[in-house]
Amino acid sequence: TVARLRPFGGTIFAEMSELAVRHGAVNLGQGFPDWDGPPRMLEVARGQIAAGNNQYPPGRGMPGLRAAIADDRAARYGSVLDPATEVLVTVGATEAIAAAVLGLVEPGREVILIEPYYDSYAAAVALAGARRVAVPLVRDGRGFALDVDALRAAVTRDTAMIVVNTPHNPTGTMLTADELGAVAEIACEHDLIVLSDEVYEHLTFDAGHVPVASLPGMRERTITVSSAAKAFNVTGWKIGWALAPAPLIDGVLAAKQFLTFVGGAPFQPAVEHALRHEQAWVEGLRRDLLGKRDRLSAALRNAGFDTLTSAGTYYVCVDLGDGVDGLDFCRRLPAERGVAGVPVSVFTDHPGPWRGIVRFAFCKRDEVLDEGVRRLLAAN
Ligand code: PMP
Ligand code: GLN
Repeated sequence: TVARLRPFGGTIFAEMSELAVRHGAVNLGQGFPDWDGPPRMLEVARGQIAAGNNQYPPGRGMPGLRAAIADDRAARYGSVLDPATEVLVTVGATEAIAAAVLGLVEPGREVILIEPYYDSYAAAVALAGARRVAVPLVRDGRGFALDVDALRAAVTRDTAMIVVNTPHNPTGTMLTADELGAVAEIACEHDLIVLSDEVYEHLTFDAGHVPVASLPGMRERTITVSSAAKAFNVTGWKIGWALAPAPLIDGVLAAKQFLTFVGGAPFQPAVEHALRHEQAWVEGLRRDLLGKRDRLSAALRNAGFDTLTSAGTYYVCVDLGDGVDGLDFCRRLPAERGVAGVPVSVFTDHPGPWRGIVRFAFCKRDEVLDEGVRRLLAAN
């Protein structure tokens, strides 16, 4: 393995899911739902394969899907996007993120990440030969807040990009209007690109999602990334997209064309169908997940865990307290208690304050959540 990838080893998701399988544990680690997406959407995908849509789609994605993505953004947020030049279909949000960094950040420049950060951001920055600078979320009551002063102080002459993720994996935090405003102000003041990872945009429980690109001065400098995975319960389909003004999309495409060229031909019309016709299903999913957040949070509290606030995503965190190492805890949990979780400290460059924080995923059937908690309680 090359030096720039050596520090990353294997992903925590692979490690914890492997432990879960080996020990027959209830997997509350890796975030994927254990039930299917809208039946009609699945039917469209099957029909596409049967009808022979099995060759390379166009490089930017099928025109019908790109139009549906633009129309969906317009309907929900009022944003106006040209599907011909400002929408790029990618192999999941993961590829959109990697291609955005590879295609738009020169080697040696700096990319600011908010920690804890989704693991692929750091790897993408390393692959690009750029340098990451991690700015922490800080504890704010039972939740987390962005340290705006630290963000401002992290900007240097070398900064090229800020990566923002709201709703936030792994904490379930949603950035407030003030925090988003501060990010926008800093980005505009220093002429920075913002990569906004909004894959959990639909999965909000208390307040609605606000796209970073909708803030004043931000449309022209923001690459918005989202995905069908979390909207329609199809994490294995790997259909994502990047949205940005044409010159930025051209940069993302410059890298994307040599990473995968294209992907997922029969799934693209299925996602197009879902974007156009399954909004009620998505609203049902949001409500179900809200119930699951409450169900798991309350059960964890009853089991004696210090449970933190989750305003969105699939995840709720617990604080095991000073002196407990979350990584060590999660490595032992599948064998000792038959449950898997994910330690949050591995998503940081400064693990100190995060050492005792562990993430559990509630995107599971209620009986699975209940069994997970039953096992945690029985072992206490
Ligand atoms: N960003 C975040 C914050 C995620 O949690 C995930 C996956 N769970 C991704 C990106 C990757 O999305 P995809 O599966 O569409 O590649
Ligand atoms: N996004 C999911 C999570 O955070 C899964 C990520 C993965 O397996 N790469 O758990």
